[in-house]
Amino acid sequence: MHSTWGKRLCRGYLACLLALGSLPVWAGSPIVIGTGGSAGVYLPVGQAMCELYQQATGSACQALTTGGSLYNASAIRNGELDFGIVQSDIQYALFHGTEQFYDSGPSKEVRALFSLHAEAFTVVATPPEIRNFDDLAGKRVNVGNPGSGQRATLNLLLEMKGETEGIFALASELKPTDMSRVMCSGKLDAFLYVVGHPSQAIDEATRGCGAHLVNVAGPEVDALIEQMPYYGLTVIPGGTYVNNPDDTVTFGVRATLLSRKDVDEESVYQLVKAVFEHLDAFRRSHPSLATLTPSAMVHEGLTVPLHAGARRYYEEVGLLPPGSE
Ligand code: GLU
Repeated sequence: MHSTWGKRLCRGYLACLLALGSLPVWAGSPIVIGTGGSAGVYLPVGQAMCELYQQATGSACQALTTGGSLYNASAIRNGELDFGIVQSDIQYALFHGTEQFYDSGPSKEVRALFSLHAEAFTVVATPPEIRNFDDLAGKRVNVGNPGSGQRATLNLLLEMKGETEGIFALASELKPTDMSRVMCSGKLDAFLYVVGHPSQAIDEATRGCGAHLVNVAGPEVDALIEQMPYYGLTVIPGGTYVNNPDDTVTFGVRATLLSRKDVDEESVYQLVKAVFEHLDAFRRSHPSLATLTPSAMVHEGLTVPLHAGARRYYEEVGLLPPGSE
């Protein structure tokens, strides 16, 4: 027999929460944030944002495992996802209809919330003779699963060099969760990953089979950094991984949180507010977030307009002047 005491004590969910003494601020709606593979940094970063949103609003939030930036960008454009983490180079291509989005055209309704951690175009290899990106020619390389950001950035770099994935003896499409294991079993010479550091997959490869990080430098990389507003010179400090005492020089992007113009302003506002008001906890949730600053989050790596809900918060706290666009 079912007891009716609960019904008598509290009529309805809100009254019940009041009676139990825990009343979150009810604002915003349940949300889903597209992240990346389970070996990456996007997933724990998405989970940390979700936790803050849930605590602040009492509404559900799910950090969804996906194929990565390119998948998230397309899903936001198609309306399958309202929020997703996207590399800043892919954000630009989506908005302007360039590169992978040339056929689908510009997506002017895409909006930014803020930028996140820095990500480096990272090449990890086992044969000692692979010292620079160009040494990958004729090797067995994991170029990334379709939908991943690394695949998209690699193709841009190859295009700049006048090359294609055909320069590799093998261009495999394993997901980040599998690439270290397969490389360490001897079936691959190298893999590419656009990721924040330290990264679990790279930790596995450096510990598992003494893999080393490879420099990505040369005139084409210099040209990319000079010509594209979203690329910058990046150094992965020596000692980040075992067996890798020296700095690695490459180029990189920032991870960014994207949405669409028609997505509920209040949910966006609450998500931004939850992260910025608990920035210390957010920074502690993953080492790659440790150096985030509010100013960099609002001003770096964003090449599309801010969502109205995000702008409202930034204006309220003085991160942007009132009436900014
Ligand atoms: N940058 C990668 C991508 O866009 C994901 C990295 C991660 O999951 O941390 O696909």
